[in-house]
Amino acid sequence: MSTLHNLRLYNTLSRTKEDFAPIDPGKVRMYVCGPTVYDYAHIGNARPLIVFDVLYRLLRHLYGASHVKYVRNITDVDDKINARAAERGISIRELTETTNAIFQEDAYSLGCLDPDVQPRATEHIAEMIAIIEKLIASGHAYAADGHALFSVPSMADYGGLSRRPLDEMIAGARVEVAPYKKGDTDFVLWKPSKDDEPGWDSPWGRGRPGWHIECSAMSWKHLGETFDIHGGGIDLVFPHHENEIAQSRCAFGSGVMANVWMHNGFLQVEGQKMSKSLGNFITIRDVLADWPGEVARFNMLKTHYRQPIDWTAAALRESKRELDRWYPIAKQYADSEAMLSPEFEAVLCDDLNTPEAITHLRRLYSEALDGVAFAGARLAACGRLLGLFQHDLGAWNGWRPASAGIDELAVQRLINARIEARNAKNWAESDRIRDELLAMGVQLMDSKDPTTGELSTRWEVKL
Ligand SMILES: [Zn+2]
Repeated sequence: MSTLHNLRLYNTLSRTKEDFAPIDPGKVRMYVCGPTVYDYAHIGNARPLIVFDVLYRLLRHLYGASHVKYVRNITDVDDKINARAAERGISIRELTETTNAIFQEDAYSLGCLDPDVQPRATEHIAEMIAIIEKLIASGHAYAADGHALFSVPSMADYGGLSRRPLDEMIAGARVEVAPYKKGDTDFVLWKPSKDDEPGWDSPWGRGRPGWHIECSAMSWKHLGETFDIHGGGIDLVFPHHENEIAQSRCAFGSGVMANVWMHNGFLQVEGQKMSKSLGNFITIRDVLADWPGEVARFNMLKTHYRQPIDWTAAALRESKRELDRWYPIAKQYADSEAMLSPEFEAVLCDDLNTPEAITHLRRLYSEALDGVAFAGARLAACGRLLGLFQHDLGAWNGWRPASAGIDELAVQRLINARIEARNAKNWAESDRIRDELLAMGVQLMDSKDPTTGELSTRWEVKL
């Protein structure tokens, strides 16, 4: 096993692409910030899941599966969780357990391998307290009013990841003005809990951790004081990752927390920022009702992970069509031991250039059609490295959406034709249209307005 491959990764810390060399080639260590389990994960959350799954698969290919350790945490203590549990009238435990179970199913459906460890924040309170105690002992944190706070001015090179000007950081931090804060930019490590809030005993009284300290504690426990790769969405650079770095480096006296910091770009939907108020908020569940998870994965990988992605129904349709064409050939070679194409491996090792890798798959597909030797087997092997072709052909072809694939306009036209037929008392035609819709998987529900006698028809997709 050679220790240096041609893997190059863009490092947010240095703002450059760097040759990747693990601290210990016998164990490549990667940490990715996981979900806060209070609600369904949205399609933006699917992006780091898929991107870092591909990186995990590539690292396993390069270093050997047993030489890579991937840790993705579960944040199961957070004020959003407390609020949602209260709103729904269920226990915090019930909310976090069910939400996590849904998240795990989503990740599985998107074709992601399980990380090696999925630590839970609530099981690492002792490590959090230990780090905070180290920080207080070394003058990087202080206790005040039941809180423990990180003293930002105590760290000379705070801000090196986000490279934000100090006045901008102060403006951001001033959102939380509090009497117990000594400095404007100081952030919470520990805060007191009321009796009805989850809490743990600590040297600063009964309380609960701030969000940032959770990741410092869990990465330390499972990967050590310094590790190779830390990943997450670009929105986490400041303040979350900046503060993780501050905590870990100051607690352990290390020059870096992780050597390489990787961030995936934003996701927007049909050209607009996704938001609940705009009504274009899409959960992973919504996508999985309409498309196989592999289509979502493939669609995501067509854009380079650092670029913003525009999530559109048209692109999903095209992704499905392309995979439909490739599947029969890829599955023909499902058991072949073909090697990856060197070009494919090279572009993937160039900062995970999945769009170029997919261009290569397209070339392999047309070569396979032309009867070029090994092309089909390589299509299968390269696709597998991206997490594609995980289903057998029968399952793939037999997949039916809960709603997509149904041409809503065509359904509405048929419903209108049926209403016309009924108005003309042409019952045979009305029944024929009903059966035609049923064959499309569309179930009609007629209802008559009790006062006007007017007939209306709703429809739903029959599962
Ligand atoms: Zn984190």
